[in-house]
Amino acid sequence: MARRFNQPLGGNEMPRFGGPATMMRLPAAASAEGLDACFVGIPMDIGTSNRPGTRLGPRQIRDESRMLRPYNMATGAAPFEHLQVADIGDVAINTFDLKKSVNLIAGHYRGILGHGAIPLTLGGDHTLTWPILRAMKEKHGPVALIHVDAHADINDEMFGEKAAHGCPFRRAWEEGCLLNDKVFQIGLRGTGYGADDFDWARGKGWTVVQAEECWWTSLTPLMERVRAQIGDVPVYLSYDIDSLDPACAPGTGTVEPGGLLTHQGLEIIRGCAGLNLVGCDLVEVSPPYDPTGNTALIAANFLYEMLCVLPGVPQRR
Ligand code: MN
Ligand code: MN
Repeated sequence: MARRFNQPLGGNEMPRFGGPATMMRLPAAASAEGLDACFVGIPMDIGTSNRPGTRLGPRQIRDESRMLRPYNMATGAAPFEHLQVADIGDVAINTFDLKKSVNLIAGHYRGILGHGAIPLTLGGDHTLTWPILRAMKEKHGPVALIHVDAHADINDEMFGEKAAHGCPFRRAWEEGCLLNDKVFQIGLRGTGYGADDFDWARGKGWTVVQAEECWWTSLTPLMERVRAQIGDVPVYLSYDIDSLDPACAPGTGTVEPGGLLTHQGLEIIRGCAGLNLVGCDLVEVSPPYDPTGNTALIAANFLYEMLCVLPGVPQRR
């Protein structure tokens, strides 16, 4: 008997501005049991160092996902013909305690990974990637990482704290979560505390591709090199929306000009097809700074594009 998969609620069954506000209007599920992939929100902004608001990100991304249709017209991907997917809701963080929230997130993701589902995370500030990578290491061992961001997020401390949205990849490195020769940071730019700020990562063997190297060019050749270097090991994709130029995505807390354009973000995500992706996140959408909804709408589309490149989803073009 053919397996039947969950489908997004169609625009001819219920107006797109109606019905339950799940990601892509998919069925809601209480857990990841029985799922191949799941959308999961982390409504958190207490790790933010500048403008807040990402606690409202998951809801706004879900709302702006309402127009997403099931088929990818660029790549031919049809994820809902191959994967069982649902929206499993949000992680119940402790909004008064970031350190406790880090442990709550790690525990929640142990549960998701225990069911064998691939999590696609709606953020939330970037602190959340640290506990996710901790859970990933426990399941898969150290992973390759593709990190797209305006910022390196490798601070040892912020205001004396080890848990903050500028520290997740330093913490992940300390905990041995990363395959250091297969870590890529793409889109970094802006001002620093020292001219050598990005060299800490290079010294660890990571590949840093600053935003200026991405200007005026397709990122498809870059992704060919990324895939060749990563091979078939487990890989995690962490996408900070502030990697995009603020002309494309102004609705975020820590804006830097001169960023990637939307189609370059698509090239990066589509360039992950063929990799052994074990999880993805889209972080730092701040609805109070996103009055048009465009930033959350791009985030929703990028999360769909991540679903389209998961293992088991053929690319027809
Ligand atoms: Mn970040
Ligand atoms: Mn950032």
